[in-house]
Amino acid sequence: MTNDFVADWDALAETDPDVAGAIANEVNRERSTLRLIASENYASPAVLAAQASTMNNKYAEGYPGRRYYGGCEFVDVVETLAIERAKRLFGADHANVQPHAGAQANMAVFGAFLEPRSDDKVLGLVLAHGGHLTHGSPVNVSGKWFNFVGYEVDRETEQLDYDRIRDLAKQQRPKIVLAGFTAYPRVIDWVAFRSIADDVGALLWVDASHFIGLCAGGAYPSPVPFADVVTFTTHKTLRGPRGAIVLCREEHAKAIDKAVFPMMQGGPLEHVIAAKAVCLQEAMSPDFAEYAARVVRSARSLAQGLADEGIRVVSGGTDSHLALCDVRPVGLGGKEAEAVCDEVGIAINKNGIPFDPMPPLDPSGIRVGTPGPATLGMDEPEMKEVASIIGEALRNRTDGRVKEQCRARVGELMNRFPVYPG
Ligand SMILES: *Cc1c(COP(=O)(O)O)cnc(C)c1O
Repeated sequence: MTNDFVADWDALAETDPDVAGAIANEVNRERSTLRLIASENYASPAVLAAQASTMNNKYAEGYPGRRYYGGCEFVDVVETLAIERAKRLFGADHANVQPHAGAQANMAVFGAFLEPRSDDKVLGLVLAHGGHLTHGSPVNVSGKWFNFVGYEVDRETEQLDYDRIRDLAKQQRPKIVLAGFTAYPRVIDWVAFRSIADDVGALLWVDASHFIGLCAGGAYPSPVPFADVVTFTTHKTLRGPRGAIVLCREEHAKAIDKAVFPMMQGGPLEHVIAAKAVCLQEAMSPDFAEYAARVVRSARSLAQGLADEGIRVVSGGTDSHLALCDVRPVGLGGKEAEAVCDEVGIAINKNGIPFDPMPPLDPSGIRVGTPGPATLGMDEPEMKEVASIIGEALRNRTDGRVKEQCRARVGELMNRFPVYPG
């Protein structure tokens, strides 16, 4: 097979040095920065190649075998592969691989099951406790057009309290119960959520965007056997192209497919779907299971290390790829912590913590995650070192010499675990 027309770097550099230059700078940034942002990862060269292919050029509105355009025989091959692999990997009845991103996959759930501006309620985690923008934020279509009611984590344990969620469900009678979050570090009890939904005759929707790769690798319980519908992004722990997939039970297949196309989207991104097929294949390998286990093990180690540095770990630990940390005990807020980490070459994000007394733009916490470092091969010993660097940098944030030393320690790690070594 030839590689003509897949990712021709020389053509780009010659035609558009401005864009090529920015991409080259981004590659250097990735190579010199430790990526602890919990929602980010490194897609494999095979995933990136599929995405840079000429399938970009093809219009394919519709679904495999039922398209509005001719010439779809090869995009049908990749879309069918992606669908079959998604079904096999997660044991799902039905898969729609066309959503352009997580937000669009969630829109498809609204389109399939809810009437806008009606009494239909969705019961989801409040945003301040780890819910996502698309779970009812007033600035998002989910909150503008749909009726979200929020449950909270428990103030003491900072974990879900299923009895209280059940009581709220009985009181509110939602049409959909939503579980699956962006900043919740612990295992979610799918059996409990299924039974809460059944108690009130609601559908169970799980937004597994953050942890789906861990489910694929067997390192976190899969919601697929319990939920009516599961949406997830393909670019976070699943390590694929930017995009999303919807899985559902057979009885909802037609409604979901219609909601994705033609209700929410036009032509599918077949080059991205090709890359989704590649990442799903990669996720079936024993290597990926080892990866998923390493992600969780190293997140535990990072959380323990940060606790040893005097930082308070929300809920006391993690069972997943991320930890939420209250940095106030070391004398600063999340915004400043993010800036100090950035100065020493560590990318994290400021994050609200449950019942945060501080405002959203300067919250009390940070969120850290290990999907990126685990892809590079880092493991528990490296996460101990990273926690020590973060503690040192935060405590000595006004000391330029110490920060220089911290930056050098990050550089040493990045040299030992290079990004896209070539
Ligand atoms: C990331 C995320 C999304 C949105 O994904 P985009 O691809 O950024 O639109 C939706 N839900 C959850 C829980 C997420 O973590």
